[in-house]
Amino acid sequence: MKVIFLGTGPSLGVPVPTCKCETCSSTDPGDKRLRSSVYIETGSSKFVIDCGPDFRQQVLMNHIEGIDFILLTHKHNDHIGGLDDVRPFNYHQKGDMPVFGTNETLDDVVNRFYYSFEKRPYPGSPKFDLTEIEKGIPFEIKNTKILPVEVLHGTMPVMGYRIGDFTYITDAKYIPEDQIELVKGTKWLVINALHPSYKHKMHFDLEDALDFIDMINPEQAFITHLSHKFPPYKELQSLLPKDKDIMFAYDGLELNF
Ligand SMILES: [Zn+2]
Ligand SMILES: [Zn+2]
Ligand SMILES: [Zn+2]
Repeated sequence: MKVIFLGTGPSLGVPVPTCKCETCSSTDPGDKRLRSSVYIETGSSKFVIDCGPDFRQQVLMNHIEGIDFILLTHKHNDHIGGLDDVRPFNYHQKGDMPVFGTNETLDDVVNRFYYSFEKRPYPGSPKFDLTEIEKGIPFEIKNTKILPVEVLHGTMPVMGYRIGDFTYITDAKYIPEDQIELVKGTKWLVINALHPSYKHKMHFDLEDALDFIDMINPEQAFITHLSHKFPPYKELQSLLPKDKDIMFAYDGLELNF
């Protein structure tokens, strides 16, 4: 299995336009964070989790030439705003793009991209094939088994996804006990932390993320969806405990399991 982090930033990305802070001013590529998303290849399929406003740039930068389907975590713009840009994949693959998400997320896709769902869509509109999924109910597509895990983003349900021994969770603030059970046994865990220490209503901060990593105890953990409130990349690793294999993800980071 191969995973490429296409983006590891929050809704504003990093740098934040107009901001002059040390992280936003950094020239280190580790401090350039597009909106959060990952590309995954299993033996039988290739897909992305989320399709934010940077999707087009992300597939170009990472030379992604095919996507079998898209898993959506939730309806916020930084996670679905790039869906119109599946068009080249529609043309290239000569078919609708299968998209998986909760009922609430898919309703929002239909509202935002209404022009694709009209009786006679404008020629060249993106084409989606939507499938509703539910927490804790595994499904299989292209011989890849996927288990949706529900986390809460404030009060909004967000889907995390477990694929074998890999679990990707973003935009979590609270993870219910029964869903934690579904994540246990994961060897490679991705989890969000928006700020170093700030009790945000909607997002884990670093301390929350580290507590969750402790609870799951994976072989390796990766932190994503990082804001410019974190120090520049060269100082980041010093925020993490030394006795565990945990790292801050960065755009373009590739993992092979
Ligand atoms: Zn987000
Ligand atoms: Zn900044
Ligand atoms: Zn969100």
